[in-house]
Amino acid sequence: MKDKTKAIHEGYIKDIQKTMAVPIYMSTAYEYESVEHAADLFALRDVGNIYTRISNPTTDVFEKRIASLEGGVAALATASGMSAIFYSLVNVAKAGDNIVASAKLYGGSVTLLTHTLKRFGIEAKFFDPHKPEEIEKLIDKNTKAILFESISNPSIDVADIEGICNIADKYEIISICDNTVATPSLFKPIDYGCDVVVHSASKYITGQGLAIGGVLIESQKAGKKIEDNERYLVFNEPDESYHGLVFTKTSFPPFSLRARLSLLRDMGAVLSPFNSWLFIQGLETLDIRMREHSKNAFLIAKFLNSHPKVKKVHYPCLKSDENYPFAMKYLKKGCSGLLSFEVESFKEAKKIVDNVEIFSIVTNIGDSKSIITHPASTTHQQLSKKELAAAGVAEGLIRLSVGLEDSADLIEDLKKAIEA
Ligand code: PLP
Repeated sequence: MKDKTKAIHEGYIKDIQKTMAVPIYMSTAYEYESVEHAADLFALRDVGNIYTRISNPTTDVFEKRIASLEGGVAALATASGMSAIFYSLVNVAKAGDNIVASAKLYGGSVTLLTHTLKRFGIEAKFFDPHKPEEIEKLIDKNTKAILFESISNPSIDVADIEGICNIADKYEIISICDNTVATPSLFKPIDYGCDVVVHSASKYITGQGLAIGGVLIESQKAGKKIEDNERYLVFNEPDESYHGLVFTKTSFPPFSLRARLSLLRDMGAVLSPFNSWLFIQGLETLDIRMREHSKNAFLIAKFLNSHPKVKKVHYPCLKSDENYPFAMKYLKKGCSGLLSFEVESFKEAKKIVDNVEIFSIVTNIGDSKSIITHPASTTHQQLSKKELAAAGVAEGLIRLSVGLEDSADLIEDLKKAIEA
């Protein structure tokens, strides 16, 4: 099946009611046929639902659909993008281990790595995502994962994905790609050798700013890499918390199986079936939306690039952008809806943000409604001038998440605000 067909049908088998729309199974628990049936489900001898913290039929459709769209073999949905990232990391790393991560990550991932995981005894080391060779100097026997974003938020850089995943393969370390901004419609990390993909489904997957959620997707290669690998003993030795189950010795993909049966079971950041249903609706139109987001953003980037009051535009599909060679290699279908531009001063940027009418001042991305933010006065407000410069946030930097309105209206809105 081609992707557009999978996005509409994958994972859903109509039950007796024959509903065209996937039903929302709002149920905490499920009845067993007998004591023996219950015992078989608990021992994984039979497949079925026990309790919605572990699995749910609506969420199962979402997991199967996104796994298929990403080219993976299994997925685990979570309550947020952050919990998907957290689970994917602590699935492999324990106290004393370390994660090698891209220096260009979403702020929440940075604080997770540098503060929260540090408290758990897991160290983070950072590399430039355009220079995968830096990774080799950072890896040691306790490195358990290499984490990066395909298109980074907020810096809008395109990683050298193949270079990063090749190094991960050379050392048999799990690579984890946050594909939130690109989505599988524009780019599939697994095609370029990545082992695990994570998403904040709260962005383009929901698509209209409706719900928080996340998902991790496991490739076939991830399971092979983990099996009999001394770095990942926890997957290859009996798990005492699960009657001695060896995760690599079942018929299920081991990475997502362990994340489900150990982390979701014990920490419980489970996705609501209602939110799974919203994300299923989102996936049905994701491809069409991503093309429109990309088209609108490209037109706006070109307009801004030619405006005399704009100093610089950051958009990977622009020839003038340093990410252009990577965009041409990985983002053949479009560069998504995020872009940023710099004007002369803090005052000038503030004036533009205060004068737009269609764009809303919001700290989110991936909505059908266009969004504008001024990092220096909001997300990065606490930083000094020197710290702002180090973070690559100029005082006159404005970030846009370009929505699905008519591009002519969006350009007119920005033009009026810039020239006000
Ligand atoms: N990853 C990226 C690239 C993001 O932009 C975000 C949120 O902005 C997250 C992860 C976290 O996702 P959530 O807000 O769903 O927890």
